Amino acid sequence: MSSENLKKVRAKIELACKRAGRNPNDVKLVAVTKEASLNDIIEAIRAGVTDIGESKVQDAINKYITLKEYKIRWHMIGHLQTNKVKDAIKIFDLIHSVDSARLAQAIDKEAKKNKKLIDILIEINTSGEKSKFGVPEKEAPRLVEQVVNLPNTRLLGFMTIAPVVSEPEEVRPYFRRLKNLYDDVKNKFPALRLEYLSMGMSQDFEVAIEEGANIVRIGTAIFKGN
Ligand SMILES: *Cc1c(COP(=O)(O)O)cnc(C)c1O
Repeated sequence: MSSENLKKVRAKIELACKRAGRNPNDVKLVAVTKEASLNDIIEAIRAGVTDIGESKVQDAINKYITLKEYKIRWHMIGHLQTNKVKDAIKIFDLIHSVDSARLAQAIDKEAKKNKKLIDILIEINTSGEKSKFGVPEKEAPRLVEQVVNLPNTRLLGFMTIAPVVSEPEEVRPYFRRLKNLYDDVKNKFPALRLEYLSMGMSQDFEVAIEEGANIVRIGTAIFKGN
């Protein structure tokens, strides 16, 4: 039952917050539904889930239409191709995966057409793994500069996906690096309203919270248990 798993995840979030001296209300839980059944998603919503993450635009559209009656915030967490931007900005409240100026410009252009302001995060490839999307840390400040002047796009923070490891502790340095980058960019661009650090998945969300994550993206631990 996803509601039982959800309770366990929430308890772990609270404990991690306690360890880090943080308020659990400051950590937003995004339930990642890419592999969940509709019944399980609805159960999770009834148990209090308000934010849903999807990694493919078409899957998200189908769920968005089916779940229209519920008040949900939709998060795009997967790689976004520019030819999907048009559909993406119709449903997503926050796009976590902006990793090029070209993509940001495409989002801005569509946002303008739809008279919307679109909230985005820049995805950083903190591990440097070739299989991962995201910009290298050292290119982040340049991309920030390119994005901040787009009138219909609002940069709210950063996202990263840690490598798959056998011990959650091994990912701590990647999360710490993203937190440092976030603080650096905040200092360098004081006018920006940076507020989100999206990091941590089922395998590593507790470490991510200890390192400052305020959005965690959790699928397996909610919908499959562990
Ligand atoms: C699938 C996915 C998640 C959730 O992963 P779990 O291990 O199932 O919690 C989080 N973030 C991104 C970007 C994903 O693609």
